[in-house]
Amino acid sequence: MKIDRRTFVKATGALAAVGIVGAPNLAFGAGKKVVVVGGGTGGATAAKYIKMLDPSIEVTLVEPNEKYITCYFSNEVLSGERTIDSLTHGYDGLKKHGIVMVKDHATAIDAEKKVVKTAGGIDLPFDRCVVAPGISFLYDKIEGYSEEVSKTITHAWKAGEQTVTLRKQLEAMKDGGTVVITVPGAPFRCPPGPYERASLIAGYLKHHKPKSKVIVLDTSSKFSKDALFKQAWSKFYGFDTPDSIIEWRPGPDAAVVKVNPAGMSVETSFGDEVKADVINIIPPQAAGKIAKDSGLTNETGWCPVNGRTMESSIAKGVHVIGDASIAGAMPKSAYAANSQAKVAAGAVVAMLQGKEPGVPSYLNTCYSIPAEKWGISVAGIYKVGEDGKIASVPNSGGVTPMDAPDWAHAREVEYAYSWYNNIVKDSFN
Ligand SMILES: Cc1cc2nc3c(=O)[nH]c(=O)nc-3n(C[C@H](O)[C@H](O)[C@H](O)COP(=O)(O)OP(=O)(O)OC[C@H]3O[C@@H](n4cnc5c(N)ncnc54)[C@H](O)[C@@H]3O)c2cc1C
Repeated sequence: MKIDRRTFVKATGALAAVGIVGAPNLAFGAGKKVVVVGGGTGGATAAKYIKMLDPSIEVTLVEPNEKYITCYFSNEVLSGERTIDSLTHGYDGLKKHGIVMVKDHATAIDAEKKVVKTAGGIDLPFDRCVVAPGISFLYDKIEGYSEEVSKTITHAWKAGEQTVTLRKQLEAMKDGGTVVITVPGAPFRCPPGPYERASLIAGYLKHHKPKSKVIVLDTSSKFSKDALFKQAWSKFYGFDTPDSIIEWRPGPDAAVVKVNPAGMSVETSFGDEVKADVINIIPPQAAGKIAKDSGLTNETGWCPVNGRTMESSIAKGVHVIGDASIAGAMPKSAYAANSQAKVAAGAVVAMLQGKEPGVPSYLNTCYSIPAEKWGISVAGIYKVGEDGKIASVPNSGGVTPMDAPDWAHAREVEYAYSWYNNIVKDSFN
């Protein structure tokens, strides 16, 4: 990609302001209010960067939970390599930046009256609002499934109690048992996540219950980094042999349409009944409920935005970032949410200062660890077209080469752990 000096200065100007022109900005943003809804990876990053870019802006972050548990690396809790505590992070770091935390549930975002209402009865007025509520689950798309049923037939697609429950179920399962993982149609949070989960559970079974297996019932017939995953499955888990620990059944016939919790089975769209000892249903998804309740979603269930600023195409003055947004070619990942948060922060501050927002580029890398010391990744760079849509930059990014040597895969694991530490620090501290 050709970047001339003007484009570069425009793109990076907002972030450069953090260190260089912080003080003069005080006059511009003085008295302005930004309310951020959702203190996950996207919301936390946005709140922090808005405050850093212009300390005169009053930034309030609404989040019901005392602590945030990252979904990223929660698959390692399932394989016993990590504890849930190691994924749990508080908000003291954000408070130190001067962000006001409101521990509450936002119940409405009124873009016309410019106010966020909370379950606790607080009205939070704003000049601009950033919304990052993550995802909600469309339980009713699978017959027999519900939020109540998910307490035992888990999704574990929001890290926390269900992650621990699923781990305990795997530990309690007899050797020779079957684990079923169901994968919804795209788009969903973390496209490689279900396959990393299958791999790590297979790794646990291989060492502790070698007669057991994992069946992946997929709605799709292709998936993120599929050649690399299948390579790992062959190398470590006997994939495509009679003794394979992982069996992957591709869609559309393998899409799960029904669950029978009492009989511990699921039914596919083809009519097959699959019995299991542990069932993990990853349900179809949509933007977090508050986005729908506030009229920020379209017919897809997700929130359309202008990729230049992440401002909602439906509600002026409201920016939607992270998994809830329709971010063109970008996947629903924490890295993407973090990248979008910085673009939104730059745009919010510029707009509050009466300036033109810069021209952004976005980044994403998704690491997966299908086996011990064996990591893979996909990376992408994105730009915004004239139509405001986020598109991949041609010939940018890529995936781990299929012929990468073992030492390179081992290094990808180190990169993955290092990425985890960096993104948590960048978002929450
Ligand atoms: C198993 C798994 C593995 C993953 N691995 C990776 C990985 O390796 N790399 C990667 O980049 N991504 C990974 N992801 C994806 C990543 O977790 C998400 O893409 C990321 O968390 C999205 O950030 P977000 O801010 O949009 O949503 P979230 O992080 O879910 O944050 C949403 C926040 O909003 C809050 N909220 C919701 N509604 C309200 C409301 N009404 N009022 C106030 N607050 C509200 C929630 O409590 C939550 O704290 C993984 C996901 C899973 C499930």
